[in-house]
Amino acid sequence: MQLGEQEQAALKASIVQVGQRVARELGERPELEQALHMVGFLHAAIDKTVAQAALRGQAPACQAGCASCCHLRVEVSPVEALRLAGCLQDWPEARRQDLLQRLRLRLALLENAREPAPRLPCVFLQDNMCSIYPWRPANCRKAHSFSAADCQQGAVHIQQDLAITLAAEALQAGTAQGYRQAGLSMAPLELTHGLLWALEQPSAGELWLDGKDVPPL
Ligand code: SF4
Repeated sequence: MQLGEQEQAALKASIVQVGQRVARELGERPELEQALHMVGFLHAAIDKTVAQAALRGQAPACQAGCASCCHLRVEVSPVEALRLAGCLQDWPEARRQDLLQRLRLRLALLENAREPAPRLPCVFLQDNMCSIYPWRPANCRKAHSFSAADCQQGAVHIQQDLAITLAAEALQAGTAQGYRQAGLSMAPLELTHGLLWALEQPSAGELWLDGKDVPPL
């Protein structure tokens, strides 16, 4: 994505603005619940941006049941992994154990893959639908395309709406900046890795709140 000087300046200004707002809301020593809750605002804002852009111009080709992008690498922030792990606490124990097993299997496949970015289905993909749709991470929310065929064929360049991409980037980068200002790590994690950490490390939330990075598994 090549941006002109003015677009770059506008993007930087939006990132700073979002970052300042998030840092102000979080304060210097946020509670875990508050920090997890705050990331929901990022998700809602990205959803709104995508919906508004779809009304304004050409609607993206994305449809329920089209899950090409759910076979790609997805990155989450530690706070998204923790929030998602919290939401999964309500799942029945057998379903949670099944998920843990599938996460470990997927991680092993990723670690042993020959290609750097193998196409593997996300563990949350069921019948080509996202089974955690309301809690899906920001990167899934902002993903969109004007050509389902390009996605299916794994095209390197996917036609996207620049306004959605820039607005989502400002929201995501600004939110990350705000959390970092509060002393919290926002280093991106592969979804499987991040979620296993959040589910299996009993004090994951407290460690993150203490400013610790997520260790490699
Ligand atoms: S979390 Fe949901 S939307 Fe995101 S890749 Fe997985 S199945 Fe797809």
